[in-house]
Amino acid sequence: MNATPGMLDAVILGGGVAGLWTLRRLLAEGRSAALLTTTDLGAGQTVASQGIIHGGIKYALGGAATAASRAIAAMPDRWRACLAGRPGPMDPDLSAASVLAGEQHLWTTPGLVSRVAAAAASKAIRTPVERLGAEEMRGVFGRAPAGVAVYRVAEPVLDAASLVRALAGPAMDRIGKVRSVEAIEPMGAGAVRVDVRRGDGARAELQSRAVVLCAGGGNGPLVELAGGRASDLMQQRPLHMVLARGAELPPLFGHCLGASTTPRLTVTSWADAAGRVVWYLGGGLAERGVGLEAAGQRAAARAELNASVPWAVRGAVELATLRIDRAEGLRADGSRPDEPVVTPLMGGRVLAAWPTKLAQAPLLAERVSAALPAGSGGAEAFDLERPGVAPLPFDAPGLEWAA
Ligand SMILES: Cc1cc2nc3c(=O)[nH]c(=O)nc-3n(C[C@H](O)[C@H](O)[C@H](O)COP(=O)(O)OP(=O)(O)OC[C@H]3O[C@@H](n4cnc5c(N)ncnc54)[C@H](O)[C@@H]3O)c2cc1C
Repeated sequence: MNATPGMLDAVILGGGVAGLWTLRRLLAEGRSAALLTTTDLGAGQTVASQGIIHGGIKYALGGAATAASRAIAAMPDRWRACLAGRPGPMDPDLSAASVLAGEQHLWTTPGLVSRVAAAAASKAIRTPVERLGAEEMRGVFGRAPAGVAVYRVAEPVLDAASLVRALAGPAMDRIGKVRSVEAIEPMGAGAVRVDVRRGDGARAELQSRAVVLCAGGGNGPLVELAGGRASDLMQQRPLHMVLARGAELPPLFGHCLGASTTPRLTVTSWADAAGRVVWYLGGGLAERGVGLEAAGQRAAARAELNASVPWAVRGAVELATLRIDRAEGLRADGSRPDEPVVTPLMGGRVLAAWPTKLAQAPLLAERVSAALPAGSGGAEAFDLERPGVAPLPFDAPGLEWAA
């Protein structure tokens, strides 16, 4: 890095969807901004996500439409415009990202039809939710027995690694990888100094009018460096996800609804290099399995597949498990948020930001932008090491597959 790349309008710390979308927005607005990350881009939650661009139906299943449903209702259309190469003002062109499925499905175990219908009818849901007629029960759902109701939900599902590449690509000259962030200090006159250690061990500093913390779980130590108390501002909620692969598994995207208001099983799918379909299993299975060892969680996954989608599972299936924490901001009253959280620190010169959902990254970037002082643009390029893109979960090293 140049010792002093000039006074920037914003330094963003963290290279997941929140940091990258915010970087693209600030650059589109003509601000000078740089993003620093300590790992490959997307490492952490973003590439580990299920890539569903929620429009709120999942949140409306509890009955009354919540604030979350309303905030998230506009997201699928907004993302679709970006994915089609026709982004709205200040949004990025994401036509290079891969859409794994243009829509997903909700399917029930018997007895829950009316709850889905009521949620779908909520005024907070803009995303069309339509029950499949008997003649539409094709493909994987063609095997579902009578009594299983299936709904089509116009929420796309993305390949998160391709999303990271599409967001980062045009801004790569503003992105650097560092070994660590060592200090975030006020400089007087409304500026902040960020001290970093580069990959080669050398120290460097950036000066900026604002610093945006977008490091997911890594925001904890950064909040403390900026003088805040992490335990008041954020929480981490663990998940024990499961991967299932098999030559005869069909692609499947959606949620199986059980008795609870949260899906008992969420399934998204990729194809691996060997041409096998890999199911990524989350929802209630991943929440309930947090206390289980890998073998126990694999057994729980087999039981859940048998209960939720026995009609879709064909052939031999191998399973592996993956632990990952969700990092979320807390509201002022300590409660869990429905929407992105942007908390000012250091008199507003530092913003700690959590999108709450990948789907809400556009909303987060909008709120960060609104909270920043006017930009002045300019600033030279800098020459830090460029990060790569983290692998998708099924490609991550160290997974233990078992029959
Ligand atoms: C299993 C799972 C499934 C999910 N599925 C969905 C879904 O289907 N749809 C949806 O909308 N949301 C989903 N989410 C939520 C979504 O993934 C997150 O809300 C979102 O990815 C958070 O993005 P982020 O950029 O804030 O954090 P992250 O993606 O965690 O990125 C933070 C980055 O900051 C870097 N970093 C850490 N420390 C530092 C530091 N000191 N300095 C600089 N950089 C640092 C990290 O290495 C990381 O790359 C899911 C989450 C999980 C865990």
